[in-house]
Amino acid sequence: MNRGPSSFQRLLIAALAGILLFNGFCFSQTAPKYSFMHQATSAPALSYFDYIIIGGGTAGCPLAATLSQNAIVLLLERGGSPYGNPNITNLGSFGQTLSDLSPSSPSQRFISEDGVISARARVLGGGSCLNAGFYTRAESRYVNDVGWDGRLVNESYGWVEKKVAFEPPIKQWQSAVRDGLLEVGVNPYNGFTYDHLPGTKVGGTIFDVDGHRHTAADLLQYANPSGLTVLLHASVHKILFRVKDVLVVSCDYFSYSFDRKFEEGNMTHLCGLNVRWLYTE
Ligand SMILES: Cc1cc2nc3c(=O)[nH]c(=O)nc-3n(C[C@H](O)[C@H](O)[C@H](O)COP(=O)(O)OP(=O)(O)OC[C@H]3O[C@@H](n4cnc5c(N)ncnc54)[C@H](O)[C@@H]3O)c2cc1C
Repeated sequence: MNRGPSSFQRLLIAALAGILLFNGFCFSQTAPKYSFMHQATSAPALSYFDYIIIGGGTAGCPLAATLSQNAIVLLLERGGSPYGNPNITNLGSFGQTLSDLSPSSPSQRFISEDGVISARARVLGGGSCLNAGFYTRAESRYVNDVGWDGRLVNESYGWVEKKVAFEPPIKQWQSAVRDGLLEVGVNPYNGFTYDHLPGTKVGGTIFDVDGHRHTAADLLQYANPSGLTVLLHASVHKILFRVKDVLVVSCDYFSYSFDRKFEEGNMTHLCGLNVRWLYTE
């Protein structure tokens, strides 16, 4: 019998509720000095990249940081920077971003096809700037089933946790939920652990001890600055394959045109700003 998912789900609810009730006073986090981060409007007219990532979210930021070690990478994010926005960085303001419905909000409300009101991110760091901050590793059986390299996965956990995962304080409400789970038989009790285990556990949080949120944008601290360009407010509308080996990405204010050249086995992308339909058939 697999008891993992049900206890995990219960703990997730407990973590969310605990965060909602822990309403501390915090100050906005200082922005890291990201020399590679610019507004899209300031981008040069023409650039070349090995990789272009659309979406600087929870997945896009670590991907960009990793690829930048050995390649020239462009990361296009439709939203702005999370730094300096206390509604994102401070635990005490959790929920305010989700209820900000303005066009420039880091959160975009939408209704799913089955009618559920939800929110999606519109900011560098993606969902990790809006979410409840619960952090856990994947179930090892899942890692095996999808065929990932377990050693690399374990190394990656350490890479992420060094920047964005913390042991949460256990206050009255959290301890009450924990004790309640144990009382109804969600055993064993695993204490604090990032591992995905059956039973009850205290998982990680992306809020540090001072109540500051650490997001996927923080993982850009790992990037090689000379290998990465991050453009903010670069909203991609279409990816069009116009002709063989030519990729066109259409943005709010620009079009990006990528000429895929195969040089010595490497693919190079040409990025042209303000050049609509540079390549036509
Ligand atoms: C309210 C809420 C609470 C949650 N709580 C938790 C939790 O406690 N723990 C947990 O693990 N998960 C939680 N999640 C889920 C988690 O945040 C997401 O699963 C995760 O962030 C998804 O990562 P992603 O990289 O796939 O997408 P995202 O992080 O959403 O990144 C997508 C990025 O792409 C950008 N983008 C989109 N379209 C374009 C475009 N056309 N051009 C340029 N950029 C674009 C977006 O602006 C965004 O930054 C929660 C989610 C929500 C909404």
